[in-house]
Amino acid sequence: MLVPTPIGNLEDITLRALRVLKEAEVVACEDTRRTGILLRHFGIAKPTIRLDQHTMGQAKRLLEGYQQVAYVTDAGTPGISDPGAELVSLALREGWEVEVLPGPTALVPALVASGLPTARFAFEGFLPQRRSERKERLLRLAPDHTLVLYEAPHRLRRTLQDLAEFYGPEHPIAVARELSKKHEELWRGPLQAALEHFQEPRGEFVLVVGPKGPKPAAKPAEASELAAQLRAQGL
Ligand code: SAM
Repeated sequence: MLVPTPIGNLEDITLRALRVLKEAEVVACEDTRRTGILLRHFGIAKPTIRLDQHTMGQAKRLLEGYQQVAYVTDAGTPGISDPGAELVSLALREGWEVEVLPGPTALVPALVASGLPTARFAFEGFLPQRRSERKERLLRLAPDHTLVLYEAPHRLRRTLQDLAEFYGPEHPIAVARELSKKHEELWRGPLQAALEHFQEPRGEFVLVVGPKGPKPAAKPAEASELAAQLRAQGL
């Protein structure tokens, strides 16, 4: 059972998540210390098993014999930019029953609060760390969708610079920082201004970039110039 946990404000845990955690035989989690704090906060005493990217290869052995396993990651919905997706694919291969509870995730409140189009959006998680790969990824992304990205604070400015280069400095972005926490900030404006605003980024970030949209039609002057060039070439 995949159990979403709050991305900041502990009031965001659902009643169902609490019940499932209470009923589970064991809670498998990315970080036993962090999940231990969460469980204690809600008065839930359960054994925990570390199941992160390093131990996922041993998941079958670690979970052997258990019938009711709850899996939580550090925050939000397991499977979204964390080791949860790997566990689901393993569970399906092994024929285990998989159930996913709806619940908190960082991308949805950031997207909705951005004020940018939500009807079509692409979630890309974290862009690659190498600059050349980041640029290549941006080139391949659908620019007519709103784009939602996760980013670490120490890479935020580099990513904003690459986005400004790709989309242009005046292109709209919303930056959601520390969602549901004490220092929550929703910043909206052009990419260049975002770079000026986030000089020393701290906290957790979701970036929501507006769609690039179709290329504007050629201006009449440009169109007639082009027609003249084609005529001159006998076309
Ligand atoms: N599974 C999580 C989810 O459902 O959103 C995401 C896990 S991913 C390892 C962590 C990233 O999510 C952070 O680096 C940040 O980009 C984003 N994030 C998580 N909590 C956030 C918050 N409270 N405010 C803004 N971004 C957050």
